[in-house]
Amino acid sequence: MASVNGTIQLIRIVKQSGDGAHANVGSVCDPALADDPWVIDAQAPSYGPGASVGDKLPAISPRQGLIPQEYRQASKEELDLRIRAAKASLGDRVVVLGHFYQRDEVIKYADFVGDSFQLAQGVKTRPNAEAIVFCGVHFMAETADILSGPNQKVILPNLAAGCSMADMADLDSVLDCWEQLEEIYGTEPDADGRVPVIPVTYMNSSAALKAFCGEHGGIVCTSSNANVVMGWAYARGQRVLFFPDQHLGRNTGKAMGIPLEQMPMWDPKLPFGGNTTETLQQARVLLWHGYCSVHKRFSVEQIAFARARYPEVRVIVHPECTMEVVDAADESGSTDYIRKTIEAAPAGSIFAIGTEINLVQRLANDHPEHTIFCLDPVICPCSTMYRIHPSYIAWVLEGLERGEVLNRIEVPKETADFARIALERMLIAKPSTTSAA
Ligand code: SF4
Repeated sequence: MASVNGTIQLIRIVKQSGDGAHANVGSVCDPALADDPWVIDAQAPSYGPGASVGDKLPAISPRQGLIPQEYRQASKEELDLRIRAAKASLGDRVVVLGHFYQRDEVIKYADFVGDSFQLAQGVKTRPNAEAIVFCGVHFMAETADILSGPNQKVILPNLAAGCSMADMADLDSVLDCWEQLEEIYGTEPDADGRVPVIPVTYMNSSAALKAFCGEHGGIVCTSSNANVVMGWAYARGQRVLFFPDQHLGRNTGKAMGIPLEQMPMWDPKLPFGGNTTETLQQARVLLWHGYCSVHKRFSVEQIAFARARYPEVRVIVHPECTMEVVDAADESGSTDYIRKTIEAAPAGSIFAIGTEINLVQRLANDHPEHTIFCLDPVICPCSTMYRIHPSYIAWVLEGLERGEVLNRIEVPKETADFARIALERMLIAKPSTTSAA
């Protein structure tokens, strides 16, 4: 089976050739996906073609300058030779990390493949690597920088690889929200010593927000440990401010028995998040108005369609999907959970998966003993993950060979110190016996 990018390029070739007989070889959410990333980088700032193309890009988002022509014009065979040669000459001095959602054409150069936190942890196993080339998005490179050694430099091959969900919560809006919450709840703990609000940020957030949590008694969570982290928070606070992903917050709160009416949304554009004082007084989780445009595409109708086609199908979705989709699925879990569940299943199993298409297609390729398909029939990768391309990898690796560190991601020390506190709280958080409901 072709890679996602291979299929996208095939669609382009078929369309260009005008071969109507093969025009239905597949469908993509945006035909511009077939363009090279520097074509997109040169246009007006946007997340680029793919699932988050319609999301609003913050004005301060980093821009990627044009890389030299020799990299843009090189064939994939030449890029392959140059990347492999650069990696061989740099040896242990460099480590290349590849997120699960990267295209196969990038993953093949990765020394470690995983989710954002697994990759950041992977850095610690290579203390001698002077440079970490992070094939993922901006917040992941920041986390790697926070957790890496003082002499290690983290590189993001394309600076335009952000994350639209992470960008939906910025420090100014969260500080503004915090001020309003203090006005309503005060700052004094209750008789049990629990403070009014504990801030919890999803790993998919900027270093500045992780630092905010570290400084304000809060914590970071991943999609694998959100319930443990919420338990940690309720042992110390009366309620949780959860950002930026409303869906992970709602799905986790619901699984803990918190009624929906006690999980109001906080819209940062509105006074008191668009809530009455009474609603806020009763709130147990305040859900930031953020979402992932990749996971928002999955629907209850797609699940019904998969079940009608394969009555024995197992539907597994990521908890960044809406509550309705998570409720209609058989299981929900992180990318790592999805991967391990498929590995452990008896041969001949049928899986419909609700997560990013590159991971689903790779799982299908790696497990020919099963039938595995993406719930969404349209090929629509994460726009920003898709901005990493072998040309950028060749460019940064050959830069390192010359002693030049291109596209370094460096978190200011004070921010990194507070963010590390929030990350370390997560690492030692244990399942709690405190009830959230
Ligand atoms: S899949 Fe969603 S959360 Fe992940 S990087 Fe892309 S936009 Fe961000």
